[in-house]
Amino acid sequence: MNAPRAPLKALDDALTELLAHAEALPGVDEVTTFDGDGRALARDIVSALHVPPQDNSAMDGYAVRCADVAPGVVLPVSQRIPAGASGTPLQPGTAARIFTGAPVPAGADAIVMQEECEALAEGNQVRINAQPRVGQSIRRAGEDVTCGAVVLSKGERLTPAALGLAASIGMSTLPVVRRPRVALFSTGDELVMPGDIAPEQMPPGAIYNSNRFFLRALLQRLGCEVTDYGIVPDRRDATLDALREAAQQHDLILTSGGVSVGEEDHIKPAVQQLGELDLWQIAIKPGKPFAYGKIYRGDATQRDPRNACHFAGLPGNPVASFLTFMVLVRPFLLKLQGVTQLTPVRLALPAHFDWPKADKRREFLRVRRNAAGGLDLYPNQSSGVLTSAVWGDGVVDNPPGTPIARGDTVQFIAFAEWLA
Ligand code: AMP
Ligand code: MG
Repeated sequence: MNAPRAPLKALDDALTELLAHAEALPGVDEVTTFDGDGRALARDIVSALHVPPQDNSAMDGYAVRCADVAPGVVLPVSQRIPAGASGTPLQPGTAARIFTGAPVPAGADAIVMQEECEALAEGNQVRINAQPRVGQSIRRAGEDVTCGAVVLSKGERLTPAALGLAASIGMSTLPVVRRPRVALFSTGDELVMPGDIAPEQMPPGAIYNSNRFFLRALLQRLGCEVTDYGIVPDRRDATLDALREAAQQHDLILTSGGVSVGEEDHIKPAVQQLGELDLWQIAIKPGKPFAYGKIYRGDATQRDPRNACHFAGLPGNPVASFLTFMVLVRPFLLKLQGVTQLTPVRLALPAHFDWPKADKRREFLRVRRNAAGGLDLYPNQSSGVLTSAVWGDGVVDNPPGTPIARGDTVQFIAFAEWLA
């Protein structure tokens, strides 16, 4: 007998409801700037200096006063300023030999690149063959960062470029939110681990556990510390023990499989016994079943939500699991880390395919950008076909009941956005 069907929940409503549970984790780690990649900043980073600290040369060449120069003029070379040195004020009617990155001497108002100059008298004089503009080839003090400016903001995820910027203002360590601790479980009696049974010996009905591999990798990319409990033991008491233990040490327990309506498995009743569980039917395709709950730590009868571990249950079908992770679990984990930018950037791109029979649910169609600037569709959009997510480089986020005709503008989300 099937349980009565719950009404479908819109994805945006589900996300709002889910995110309301995701309070930022307490605790700040001070990591070396080398180790900051991908972490979420716990505080604003303010610069204590200008970058560059002073006006400097963008070229190897000669520092001059424009008023002294007409094309062909010969000027005495009064000094030589390599990067790292500081020169003396430039006397009128002279030029200074200067190198890229070296501070511009006081009085000079332009750099003439060496390709437009001729060194004379063994470098003691120079002929300038061009007419410079005031400011030419000078990088201004503070043109990158001004002293006192917030260069990186609390809630921002650090990128390699951000680490470089932090270093450019002298930060050797950075305050980041501690990593979420996530316990990962796979459910399903049909699951076999690659390596345990050879492909040619697989019994009928058995399948390899693929979700475990992409879920662990996705969690790690989001900065989580993952404890992988593998496949849930097929016994009620063992499941209870595993969940109870995991809840003590983790911020989130994430499972895949076993959240379909009416399905037999141990996870749902075990979570209900140790805490609470909401089963949602979300109006997305692939996807639909999703569970959110809490497992209370310590004395479960106290039901203290501040002393609870989050629980999220993903559908078992691999593509459904992957996409539901992206649209719900990813923003949840980012919000736990205090990240402010939770939604991926979308691009409006032309469909180079037809999708005449749209679903009533919001669909995430696996597509790939082509060289003509449009999107090609993977021919098999079944929720079990993981090849679609490997062939594709993103999805079309297609509103409910919206057929697509070749040439229509659609909303594209790149996997790279979700994987960053
Ligand atoms: P379920 O959500 O448990 O009803 O599973 C739906 C489908 O996904 C079934 O065909 C399962 O065999 C498959 N499935 C469940 N878990 C996994 C997994 N970890 N790896 C690959 N397929 C899975
Ligand atoms: Mg199952």
